[in-house]
Amino acid sequence: MNALNKKTIEDIEIKGKKVLVRCDFNVPINDGVITDDKRITESLPTIKYLLGQGAKVILCSHMGRPKGEFNMKYSLAPVAARLSELLGIEVKIASDVVGESAKELAASLKNGQAALIENVRFHAEEEKNDPGFAKQLASLAEIYVNDAFGTAHRAHASTAGVADYLPAVCGYLIQKEISIMGGALENPKRPFVAILGGAKVSDKIGVINNLLEKVDMIIIGGGMAYTFLKMQGYGIGTSICEENKLDLARELTLKAKAKDVKFLLPVDNKVGDAYKPDCNTKVVDSDSISDGWMGLDIGPKTQKLFADAIKDAKTVVWNGPMGVSEWDKFASGTVAEAKAIAESDSVSIIGGGDSAAAVEKLGFADKMTHISTGGGASLEFLEGLELPGIAALNNK
Ligand code: AMP
Repeated sequence: MNALNKKTIEDIEIKGKKVLVRCDFNVPINDGVITDDKRITESLPTIKYLLGQGAKVILCSHMGRPKGEFNMKYSLAPVAARLSELLGIEVKIASDVVGESAKELAASLKNGQAALIENVRFHAEEEKNDPGFAKQLASLAEIYVNDAFGTAHRAHASTAGVADYLPAVCGYLIQKEISIMGGALENPKRPFVAILGGAKVSDKIGVINNLLEKVDMIIIGGGMAYTFLKMQGYGIGTSICEENKLDLARELTLKAKAKDVKFLLPVDNKVGDAYKPDCNTKVVDSDSISDGWMGLDIGPKTQKLFADAIKDAKTVVWNGPMGVSEWDKFASGTVAEAKAIAESDSVSIIGGGDSAAAVEKLGFADKMTHISTGGGASLEFLEGLELPGIAALNNK
């Protein structure tokens, strides 16, 4: 798959056409009130472009996990109301995804109008990528636009199957993900540094493996660092460790050596005497973690080591916290790295999930080149895997 070669909404005649747009409107809702509408506002550039072109815009999305059944707790009705406010036009919602109500609403649209169909996951056929269901969805429209990067790694009816029946292109959100992440992987400005953290090596093996082919340096922090430190012969106390991944950790470091990729691990650590936010703590070098203590964050020397490497980078990809950043006592490693990336003049790409949340919470979001809108999807993209929701789109 050459993700950079996919057609976009600007490559197709849209005027007066019925366009089915797969968005990611999976916003947090509390008692019927949307508590964060970021995912809705992020999809506005694509929707506004289509409306401006005089298209009849039929929007669809999943919300939560209704497990293939109608459950109004997961209705997209609050999203329709918010979209109406944001767009300044009425956005009606059909009572179903397919069937008469969806067909009637889609058919009633005039040029420059938009409507929403219900949560695609109200039908079990969605996640099964059922061809009949995909065909029914497709029958609502003449063009399909995928703008939901967060679900692009899933082969579902509304993310992939529907593209078998309609001309299929990407919207601005997916285009941005592809061009920035794809561009960095294909043709990075160097030095290219990857920073990986988080709990487990096993979740990031594919990413490390693929990035070892592309980067000049890999920095490993977070819980996964302790499997690597143990493999190198260090005592790691009670730190998180995947015993069955020690051989793999060895193979990855040997591969790095063979490819002349620098591999940085923590040289000191903030350790705790229990896996608790209020445990006793101290800072120790990586060769001095004693029994009964666990590494829960990188230490100050490591913060500086990593920050210095980041300072010289021209491309940075970051996925995963440097410690248990959700606990204040163990957040400073992650904060320091986020700050170092924000201050560098590199092309900075933040994988979704915890690292994206950390960057946003710290107020560094506007200092980053790109914060991916998909946690799982961005990891699979960095692994070099084909994402079904992108592969299904037409090539230029
Ligand atoms: P991931 O989803 O793989 O990016 O991992 C994120 C999780 O890793 C967070 O919930 C952190 O609490 C956890 N984590 C980071 N560093 C450590 C560590 N040193 N020990 C245990 N868990 C960690």
